[in-house]
Amino acid sequence: MAAIYFCPCIRPFGAAQLTDYPLCTMLAEDPECLPDHVIVVDRILHKGWRSTVYYGTCQDQEKSKVAIKFAQMDRLLMEAGIYDNVKDIQGDCIPKLYGMFFGKTIRNTEMACIIMEYAGEQLTDLLSDLPRQDRAEILSHLATLHSHGLHLPDFAERNVVKAEDGSYRLIDLEDAQDHECGWSLDFRNPGEYDPYDVEGRMACVSLRSISSDMFFWTPDHIHIHGLLMYRRDELPTQDIVDALPLSITCIRTPHKLRRCLEMFYKEVWVKMEKENITLKVIQDDKEALFLRIQKEHDEKYGSEDECIRQKVKK
Ligand SMILES: [Zn+2]
Repeated sequence: MAAIYFCPCIRPFGAAQLTDYPLCTMLAEDPECLPDHVIVVDRILHKGWRSTVYYGTCQDQEKSKVAIKFAQMDRLLMEAGIYDNVKDIQGDCIPKLYGMFFGKTIRNTEMACIIMEYAGEQLTDLLSDLPRQDRAEILSHLATLHSHGLHLPDFAERNVVKAEDGSYRLIDLEDAQDHECGWSLDFRNPGEYDPYDVEGRMACVSLRSISSDMFFWTPDHIHIHGLLMYRRDELPTQDIVDALPLSITCIRTPHKLRRCLEMFYKEVWVKMEKENITLKVIQDDKEALFLRIQKEHDEKYGSEDECIRQKVKK
C-alpha cells in the first residue's frame, strides 16, 4: 500500500483556516506501478462538514492536475471501492481515480486521502439553468452510472464538475447506492417524452424525476390541459393553448383525452395559420369545435363505451 506524507497543517476539516499550502510527497510502495510524486497543493476546491478537497499539481513532466480528497476513512474506503467497480467509465463520466493513500500526522493520527484526476470546478449555476445540450450530457452520465448499478441519492449541483473544455463529470460517489435501472433512452437523442412510459425506455423513477426537475423536457414540450405534449409544427404555441382553456367533463379515458386534445389544437392551428381565423373567433366557438372533434374521434376510434365494453369482454 502506498504511503503519503502529510504536512501537519493539512487537516481533513477546518480547511478554511489554512493560510498556505504545503508540498505533498507521495511515495509509492511499488514504483513500477506508480512512481513517486511531489504534489504542489495550490488551493481548496471544496470544503464541507464531511470532506475537504484540494487542488494540486504533480511535479512531473505532464504537470498533471489532481484533486486530493480528505474525509473519514470509512467514507473514503467506500468511495474508492465504488470507483474500482466502475473503472471503465473513469475519465469519461467520472474522474480517474489514481489511488487511496494512507499516512500519519505528526501527532501519529491515522489519515487517508484519495487522489483523483482534477476534472474541473463544481457547478455554480443551477442544473436547470444550463443549456439543454449540457443537461443532456450530465443526464447521460447519470444514466451510464445507473446502467453500472449505481444511483446517487439526492443528486444535485454538488455532484457535477465542469472542465475548461466544457465537459462534465460526476463526483462525490461515496453515497452511491446499488441500483437496478430500466432506463434505455438516450438523453442526447431523447425523442418524445412519454408520461405513460413507466415500463418501457423510461423505466427509472429516479431519472424521470431528476430530468423533470432539470426541466429537461419542458422546453420542447407544451402543457395541454395538464398533459405534456411534444412540441411540433402542427400544434400551436403555448400562449395560444393557454388562451383556449376547455371545460372537459365527459371524457373518461386518458387515451381519448390526449387524442381529442391533439386533434382539437391541430385544427385550431390550421384555422389560424392557413385560414387566417382570429383567436377571438376561435375562443367564441371553442366548445362547439371540441364537441365536433369528439364526434370525429369516436367515428375514427370508436366510442369510449365500446372500447370499455371490448376490454371487459376480453
Ligand atoms: Zn435508474
